[in-house]
Amino acid sequence: MKVFLDLKWFFLQEKKSYLSGTILLLLVAFLQLIPPKIVGFVVDSIKERSLTTDDLVNWILILITTALTMYGLRFVWRIMIFGSATKLSRILRNELYHHFTKMSPAFYQKRRVGDLMAHATNDLQAIQQTAGVGVLTLVDSLSTGGFVVLAMAFTISWKLTLIALIPMPFMAVLTSYYGTLLHKRFHHAQEAFSALNDKTQESVTGIKVLKTFGQEKEEIESFRVQSEEVVQKNMSVARVDSLFDPTISIIVGISFFLSIVFGSRFVISGEMTIGELISFTTYLGLLIWPMLAFGWLFNIVERGRASYERVSALLNEQVDIHDDPDALDQAPSGDIEYHIDSYSYPGEEVQALLDIHLTIKEGQTVGIVGKTGAGKTTLLRLLLREFEGYKGEVRFGGEIVQRYKLRCLRESIGYVPQDHFLFSATIGENIAFSNPLSSTEEIEMAAKLAHVHDDISRFPKGYETVVGERGVSLSGGQKQRISIARALLLKPEVLILDDSLSAVDAKTEESILSSLKQNREGKTTMITSHRLSAIQHADLIVVLEDGRIIESGNHLQLMKKKGWYKEMYLRQQLEELVEHGG
Ligand code: ADP
Repeated sequence: MKVFLDLKWFFLQEKKSYLSGTILLLLVAFLQLIPPKIVGFVVDSIKERSLTTDDLVNWILILITTALTMYGLRFVWRIMIFGSATKLSRILRNELYHHFTKMSPAFYQKRRVGDLMAHATNDLQAIQQTAGVGVLTLVDSLSTGGFVVLAMAFTISWKLTLIALIPMPFMAVLTSYYGTLLHKRFHHAQEAFSALNDKTQESVTGIKVLKTFGQEKEEIESFRVQSEEVVQKNMSVARVDSLFDPTISIIVGISFFLSIVFGSRFVISGEMTIGELISFTTYLGLLIWPMLAFGWLFNIVERGRASYERVSALLNEQVDIHDDPDALDQAPSGDIEYHIDSYSYPGEEVQALLDIHLTIKEGQTVGIVGKTGAGKTTLLRLLLREFEGYKGEVRFGGEIVQRYKLRCLRESIGYVPQDHFLFSATIGENIAFSNPLSSTEEIEMAAKLAHVHDDISRFPKGYETVVGERGVSLSGGQKQRISIARALLLKPEVLILDDSLSAVDAKTEESILSSLKQNREGKTTMITSHRLSAIQHADLIVVLEDGRIIESGNHLQLMKKKGWYKEMYLRQQLEELVEHGG
């Protein structure tokens, strides 16, 4: 029941609804006591032959009024308690989403997407159930159960009540044992569900790769196994779950048996009337629901507790990259300086960057090149503060990047990552994502600069064309150029193209870069590319290898050095010549 304490903050926040809902529940529990009593009176008056038509009509009127009142009250408390409970999942969902948006890439590297989705769906639903049905079953089973037992003991026979209650302690022991079992099994079932979620997400996203390699059969099989696992885990929950009802029925059955055996003896000995015995057994019948509800309560609360623990653990995870309390509220501009002695990714031993000392003057175009895995992207991500924990510092406009508010820092930088992402929205909306208030002219201007305007205009719906999930209906090159347009719309101080033109042909790449050069006069541009021709006009070219700078200078200087750059440049020129049949 600890979860109710954990949720105290919410119950206090919604105290009006919960308090009124609970009072109404108590009232209904009390009203339920009336009908069995009336039935008892009527039976006794029939037996004594004293029942008049007027009496009978009166009793029936009272029964109808009670039933209608309970109907109305039940409707109102449901709205109050269940309605409030939906607010809880809304609050937690918003909190989770807010938390997700604050977390750094290191967090997403650790967590599986399917897992995070399971938290935001299944877990929140289980918590909502605790605050709704959980509270209902707790209050209702205690109040109905309590009132009925009191009515049996004080208005009929305390002796028969004690006899009828003999089997009850067994029920308490058994249900609490089942509850513990359920907690463990439910935890496993939720984990299996998370894994299945992850698998589904991955299969759907990777469907193209899957088909290309003809791996459908294997994938279907591995999906089947995972899905079977979820079924098995849920079956093991269901097996414990289904023990509750029969156990309760047997125990209540024993109670009935004892009541009838001893009750009829009391009637014969004159201690009780036959009407009272009927009222008593009807009350006993009323006890079945609270007992069942108590069983469910364990189930619901156990699920809620497991889910709340998982969600809280997630929410309590510290945001590792955040603003300093006195961070500068201004977008940086100026020179960029790297002084990094070393950097390794969290949990990795190998150094991704080593001895990087590099100054990029404001307005320069810098090309960063090197083999795959040389550290190019890492260098860019440190400027963006996606990862921290390096030895050294990165300065922007004379201040270390940590001095600026994250929002301001990122406002200054237009980053086009390698793994570009388009949302399921129109092309126009995708471009305007960086600045939703942009005018149509601004959006088109950015698209023209990224050399994608003509492609978009050829679509029947133009900028209104809806991009399928992850941009399925667009070519790789079109997606890349739309992502570039998105960054350009920001008119950033620093534009970063991280291998963002890999799917575009060499000629288009050159046109894009030369129009960028004209348009971004005085602003800094950082480009990583495998095609050296793309960066040959850069003011500064940096060659990385195993996280170190091995060469730097402009094209002419590097060509004189006879190093990696020259060798690679000549080889690529030759390849191009061969490609064009030279
Ligand atoms: P490049 O952009 O030059 O291809 P990266 O900067 O992506 O190279 O990678 C540099 C090194 O850091 C590589 O050895 C790579 O395996 C490693 N690395 C990159 N990203 C991560 C990450 N998120 N976690 C751990 N290691 C990483």
